[in-house]
Amino acid sequence: MSRLTVYLPEMLYAAGQAHTDSGLVVDESGHVTGIVPAAALPRGAAVVRLPGKALFPGLANAHSHTFQRLFRGRAEGRISGGDTFWTWREQMYRAAAFCSPEDLYDIARVTFLEMLQAGITVVGEFHYLHRDPAGNSYSDPNLLAAKVIAAAQSVGIRICLLRTAYFRAGFNLAPHPGQRRFYETPDEYLANLTDLTNAAGPGVTIGAAPHSIRAVPLAQIQSIAAEARHLSLPIHLHVSEQPAENTACQAEYGPTPVTLLDAHGLLTPATTLVHAIHLNDFEFTRVAAAQTTICSCPTTERNLGDGIFPADSAFRLGVSVAFGTDSQAQIDLLEDARQLEYHLRLQDRERGILDGSARDSWANRDAIGPALLHSATAAGYRALGLPGGSLAPGDPADFFTIDLSDTSILGLTPAELPTQAVFALNRAAVRDVAVQGRILLHDCQHPEADSIRDRYLAVQRRFLNH
Ligand SMILES: [Zn+2]
Repeated sequence: MSRLTVYLPEMLYAAGQAHTDSGLVVDESGHVTGIVPAAALPRGAAVVRLPGKALFPGLANAHSHTFQRLFRGRAEGRISGGDTFWTWREQMYRAAAFCSPEDLYDIARVTFLEMLQAGITVVGEFHYLHRDPAGNSYSDPNLLAAKVIAAAQSVGIRICLLRTAYFRAGFNLAPHPGQRRFYETPDEYLANLTDLTNAAGPGVTIGAAPHSIRAVPLAQIQSIAAEARHLSLPIHLHVSEQPAENTACQAEYGPTPVTLLDAHGLLTPATTLVHAIHLNDFEFTRVAAAQTTICSCPTTERNLGDGIFPADSAFRLGVSVAFGTDSQAQIDLLEDARQLEYHLRLQDRERGILDGSARDSWANRDAIGPALLHSATAAGYRALGLPGGSLAPGDPADFFTIDLSDTSILGLTPAELPTQAVFALNRAAVRDVAVQGRILLHDCQHPEADSIRDRYLAVQRRFLNH
């Protein structure tokens, strides 16, 4: 019989329920088999006691660009009158042009380490750096994707590498030199996507990601979607982050991006729309009907001044919402969860906004704490095409623990676990993180942390002197 391990925290939040005096049972393959009372542990099981800790399903970061960590906090000033997303983008091009394959590996490692420290167990890495700084293909055209994957494996985080297609600067725009490392031809892209998919290993999956309707024309989004269906891959794309994207799409095709995707059968359960800020209620209805996910990135969107995601409409109309750390302005997915609500409070000068929306659409099944935690966990796993995210039987044992004596959540009761995690928990309270039953962060310690930091600092120094 397979050897079982029982994780025995003081409180446990699994399959949407809070438990006390209970253990999470995990088999040798790293999958959850169930929850048992502490008084009736299975005979012969290894017991990992976690006194003073609460255990949660791991957080799913469904949208990340790791290399953007390199200029965090360094593009906050006003460069010229009316600093916007588009001037931030120039800073992003500078970082993209700088990275060698080894630099990318080192930046990704520190970023993934920080994700673990925030309780994140899986990352959807929306990867669009493919070529060398001069715009030529590496001898292995998947070299940079392989570096990011190797970085995830070395840290231990689960990764879905969303291999990104980027074919043009935009409708009627000449190629942009800052995008030299992103461009491939459509045929190259499809061949490289297939090769990468065939090379995926344990803890690594692949997804297809036409960057946006701006960067990939409709006909090519259709052929990428067909290939993704053939390979059973999730498909992610940026949609309606900026009003200018909607206008450009209307100029080229007539309808707005979501209406265009809908008309061509491109909204499916395997599709995730990133941002989707500038949508109307009809578009949210179509997204919900297609069981398409929206990945919201509030801490990045507020940093970039993108606008406020109308999460009240999305929740009320039944859209599945996941979260991403996107530009890495902050790596704290529970902060993204709470900002979804807080941005609307500032806008509407009211409180409890999403609570009302969730109750409308889910018939009081869930109030807002559990709903937002579901978005930060199971909805993200689903968006990445992965099982898990709730610690139900059969799920991979991807989880994190928090220190119940941390002052930010001191005195919480078991029934408050999800709401306190979303609205009160400080990221520094995260203690242990496991992926597939393997503990990667043990009481905040990661075995590689010192070398990861040192190597990152060396890259950072060169970037700043560059
Ligand atoms: Zn993005």
